[in-house]
Amino acid sequence: MSTPTPPSVLLGREAMMATYSPPNLAFESGRGVWLHGNDGKDYLDFYSGIAVSAFGHNHPYLVKALQEASEKVWHLSNMFRIPQAERLATRLCEQSFATKVFFTNSGAESNECGLKAIRKYQAVKAEAAGHNCVKNRIIGFSSAFHGRTIATVGAGGNPAHMKGFLMEDEGFDQVPYGDLAALEAAITEQTAGVILEPVQGEGGIRPADEAFFRGVRRLCDEHDILMMVDEVQCGMGRTGKLFAHQWYGVEPDIMSLAKGIGGGFPLGACLANDKAAAAMVFGTHGSTYGGNPLATAIGNAVLDLLSEEGFLESVQSRAAYLQEKLAGLIARYPNVYDSVSGKGLMLGFKCVVPNGDVLVSLRDDHQMLVAKSGDNQVRMLPPLNVTEAEIDTAIDRLAAAAETLLARAEG
Ligand SMILES: *Cc1c(COP(=O)(O)O)cnc(C)c1O
Repeated sequence: MSTPTPPSVLLGREAMMATYSPPNLAFESGRGVWLHGNDGKDYLDFYSGIAVSAFGHNHPYLVKALQEASEKVWHLSNMFRIPQAERLATRLCEQSFATKVFFTNSGAESNECGLKAIRKYQAVKAEAAGHNCVKNRIIGFSSAFHGRTIATVGAGGNPAHMKGFLMEDEGFDQVPYGDLAALEAAITEQTAGVILEPVQGEGGIRPADEAFFRGVRRLCDEHDILMMVDEVQCGMGRTGKLFAHQWYGVEPDIMSLAKGIGGGFPLGACLANDKAAAAMVFGTHGSTYGGNPLATAIGNAVLDLLSEEGFLESVQSRAAYLQEKLAGLIARYPNVYDSVSGKGLMLGFKCVVPNGDVLVSLRDDHQMLVAKSGDNQVRMLPPLNVTEAEIDTAIDRLAAAAETLLARAEG
């Protein structure tokens, strides 16, 4: 018999699987763009829990929606109709290319649904034509991120995320992001569809170029393969349009959403047009929690805020203001900051010094929170309702961090 582990060993950080490595900092409360730390300091939140807290912390309208929903039925599973989910699905369809929605609890699950729909579409098509389906491969792009489940890790193609988890070949191919000729060359008899982020997030903030994005649509049409966009990070108003692909004037067949859609409550969705959804019939897919009354009540409240007259335009003007101020910072501190990329309030601020140094100085010396991204970028994803005064505060803190890092380099 093994000796039971003493309970003290299981307390706190040690009880957590070692997949994360947070600093010794936690937050007790928050309001808007501010978070109150357990060190007694107030932090300016310019990453929003990775684009999740789209309206900052403790937004009164969302708190009210949560409180009201919490006093009704929390959960039923999908064995019964869920009016809140049906309402949210209808509204998402009204405002997009889609005609069908499947609700989930996360980005990876939303992508799983879309990837399954791609394969199922080809399987049903082959069956109808009376032959075996050979189209089961999906093409993704370099520097992509689609989540951490087995399939989404395969779709993302990041070797660091794949190592030790995948079989030899999970059915994904990868080509350089933005390279239409490479995509065309990679499409074979076995290709079922393509998945891409209109604005890449994790691997460096990188908006797709317009000719490329439209070219993907054209190639998908030519080969009758499905085009899926992953808008888990760039969707729900983040770029100043409700959906990022709307900047490009072409529509995908499938779109995954999560992050901002619940404003901090776990919620995701996979949207599809009739063609892509036709094969996802009764019994083909399911989720216990997905689209439960609590989550979708909050999703509706988030969509209320996003749909307010002029709100998305105000995101665009705030974004222009932030980008202009960041350009000024680069001019002032060319030895620290290099360039800005991105769309709307999804910005990558490329650094000259290591981005981790900037992130740590901002956090520990100047109480401002940002995220890292690929290409030595500091990622800024402030709440969509951030004010110009709050942006000014952020710029002051970015300047102060530059001063700190320069002084440190000299001293
Ligand atoms: C965060 C993210 C995901 C994964 O979302 P989870 O909720 O962590 O599963 C997928 N795709 C993109 C583009 C993301 O940014």
